[in-house]
Amino acid sequence: MESYDVVIVGGGVIGASVAWHLAVRGCTRVLVLDAAPGPGQGSTGRATGGFRVQFGSEPNVRLSLLAREKLLRFQDEVGVDPGYHPCGYLFLTERQETLAALLEAQAMQRSLGVTDARRVTVDEALGINPAVAAEGLVGGVYCPTDGFIRPLQMLAGYTEAARGPGVRFEYGAAVRGMRVEGGRVAAVRTDAGEVAAGAVVNAAGAWAGKVAAMAGADVPVTPLRRQVALSEPFAGLPECMPLTIFVEAEFHLRVRDGRVLMLWSDQPNTADPFDTTFDDAWLPQVAARAHRWIPCLREARVDRAACVAGLYEMSPDRHVLLGPAPGVENLFLANGSSGHGVMHSPALGQLVAEMIVDGAASSMDVHPLRPSRFAEGQPNAAPEFL
Ligand SMILES: Cc1cc2nc3c(=O)[nH]c(=O)nc-3n(C[C@H](O)[C@H](O)[C@H](O)COP(=O)(O)OP(=O)(O)OC[C@H]3O[C@@H](n4cnc5c(N)ncnc54)[C@H](O)[C@@H]3O)c2cc1C
Repeated sequence: MESYDVVIVGGGVIGASVAWHLAVRGCTRVLVLDAAPGPGQGSTGRATGGFRVQFGSEPNVRLSLLAREKLLRFQDEVGVDPGYHPCGYLFLTERQETLAALLEAQAMQRSLGVTDARRVTVDEALGINPAVAAEGLVGGVYCPTDGFIRPLQMLAGYTEAARGPGVRFEYGAAVRGMRVEGGRVAAVRTDAGEVAAGAVVNAAGAWAGKVAAMAGADVPVTPLRRQVALSEPFAGLPECMPLTIFVEAEFHLRVRDGRVLMLWSDQPNTADPFDTTFDDAWLPQVAARAHRWIPCLREARVDRAACVAGLYEMSPDRHVLLGPAPGVENLFLANGSSGHGVMHSPALGQLVAEMIVDGAASSMDVHPLRPSRFAEGQPNAAPEFL
């Protein structure tokens, strides 16, 4: 039977980041197994590429700060441009109560060192994004060092850089089961047979609950369909327009490669929550919000063939579950980032590698993210606005 120090289930951006961080720490007997026929076919390939530190909870801000530090060194360390462009995130609200909550979150962000996050009046917001129809808005918050990343470039960078020192990636290699002995995973099973593992990392994104169940672990991560409408090439908005969020409308947009990407909450298919068939009935609803809030988009046409649907990997408190699975001590989880796994992947890879190689994470306090928090009745409570 083949044997590896670490088997990683899932070769999306989080699995690849864990693999690379293990390799640079000298742990190279690592196998990454992915069910898809090639890289980037899970959620990573559908992500719109937003990066922000403007979160409502301390652990998420800390993950973003660690990730941002690493994005700035990514080209030098990993050898690929992660595409980090600080074009800003602009949150806009129609309600004073929401503004107060955004400002409370901002005070916490600033206390952690995010000194460039600031409150903006409606006039200031129009200076930052003149395309906005301001009627009804009461203000917002803005951070100019939030912005954009390139998910597939990050994935390719981590994958290639991990292969160099010897990490093996296998595609079309679904993990079907796990053999657990004495509270530890002894081996994972694929159609090709069993592979013995010293440790196993669950990096299976929206499918993490199913993978954990193979080891008898309960990981409360569920899929949530997210759709993105893409316009045909449109010159009416600048490429570096900040990602602009209309909080109450639950609508946000950005520009990428000359096209406008528009997102609004979805009505998922409850019969099959893993279904990513694009729902055309959603398009008029997202268009109505786009036309209301960014009037120049009335001139833009949706490119139906370019529109995509993918899966968020939701946890009950919208924070990642990070660390050993309760009851299975060598099964490490990096699951449930809830729609911000690409931006946090540099940090998550480093933290998981520290746990496996050093026995504990040292780059930040991961206690609030421990997988046992739900069973202990201590989920994270801070509000999120996106
Ligand atoms: C529309 C959309 C927009 C998004 N926008 C952003 C954004 O702007 N910024 C951001 O940070 N995040 C964004 N996200 C979220 C982001 O895509 C995810 O958080 C991130 O990709 C999770 O990475 P991952 O490696 O865990 O998952 P994935 O990329 O899904 O990788 C998981 C892999 O596990 C494999 N797998 C599953 N089951 C098995 C098995 N049994 N055996 C072997 N392999 C298995 C799958 O094939 C898959 O390749 C967005 C998501 C969507 C859908």
